[in-house]
Amino acid sequence: MRKTFQSWDGESVVVSWCEPAEAWVFIARHSTVLGPATGGTRLKTYGSPAEALTDAQRLARGMTYKWAGARICLGGGKGVIAMPPDPGPRQRNQALDHYARVLKSMRGAFRTGADLGTTPEDIRRIRRGSGQVVGMREGHPDDPGPFTAVGVFAGIKAALRHRFGDDSPSGRRVLIQGAGGVGRPLAALLAEAGAEILVSDLSPGAAEAVRETCGGQIVSPERMWDAEIDVYAPCAVGATVNPDTIPSLKCAIVAGSANNQLLADSDADSLLGRGILYAPDFMINAGGAIAFTAVARGERDPDLLNAKVAEIGQSLQEIFEEAASKGETPLKAAMNRAEAFLASGGKAWPASGASVR
Ligand code: NAD
Repeated sequence: MRKTFQSWDGESVVVSWCEPAEAWVFIARHSTVLGPATGGTRLKTYGSPAEALTDAQRLARGMTYKWAGARICLGGGKGVIAMPPDPGPRQRNQALDHYARVLKSMRGAFRTGADLGTTPEDIRRIRRGSGQVVGMREGHPDDPGPFTAVGVFAGIKAALRHRFGDDSPSGRRVLIQGAGGVGRPLAALLAEAGAEILVSDLSPGAAEAVRETCGGQIVSPERMWDAEIDVYAPCAVGATVNPDTIPSLKCAIVAGSANNQLLADSDADSLLGRGILYAPDFMINAGGAIAFTAVARGERDPDLLNAKVAEIGQSLQEIFEEAASKGETPLKAAMNRAEAFLASGGKAWPASGASVR
């Protein structure tokens, strides 16, 4: 664990053990330069507590960049509930209630929403126990997934335009890994726009549900890297783009919702070397964050929220062009922008783009 802390540039981590559920809780606050730490809560079974801590720290760093990249004055943080294998519903609720108590004790130092493994019902439970949930309002959609999908859809179109000179998904083959809260609505948007959907999920039922509604084909997780596609859209776990998988990728674009899609920042250089366009994760997957921040500030109109989220496409187009003109990776261009915003304390912004400030 010492190494994990030494190699992390964040501010603090709250650690707690929930005895009845045998679950660890980690709440990592990476940067509060722009505002109070805010980020989703992930519930997952990990190989070890150290692995869960590292995940919380990396995800919190990603949130710092996500807020700064979207010009939203909030800080980067993330909550992780590390469950034992195969938890029952009672154990799960015990862990969620414990987590809510930890959040409450932090008195606003971390505010949260849904992430991988947590359902809207889980988040309602956390809200009841802590009062520290962002964006949810009575009578308003409480699932960020569809908004995130709208942002990823806009980002894929921007990437198609940059790569092929035409942003239409029609006839493009898109492989979606993860048919969950984001992958499902993303598949629907792409299929409606004429894309051919390939879907891969550890859960055969989840993949089948997408195939039933969107057509296309199911690809088993073992055969994923054999698929000849235009776009790989990682919408499940992180680090699927790494030195082992990059040589096998048969696509022109990597653009999806998963956080920390790259194992390391240097993987962006390898993608550039292979001529694969990478849409930086913290920019393309900011739709839920942008929408929920707007909801928290009083916006209610779903069309306006979707339009605000879709501005992610414009921001990414600028990033792709800037990166191409400088001969650098889109990741570097996006990080430079976010870091400039952070360095200015949330005041300066070098160009136009999505904003909810
Ligand atoms: P989810 O839990 O609703 O769905 C994830 C799906 O991926 C599940 O169907 C699961 O079976 C599948 N899956 C898990 N591991 C897999 C693997 N190794 N191979 C194939 N399938 C696998 O999660 P979600 O809300 O859709 O989020 C997906 C990703 O997007 C996560 O990385 C999350 O952090 C990120 N993200 C989500 C949002 C959001 O609004 N929900 C916002 C930003 C980023």
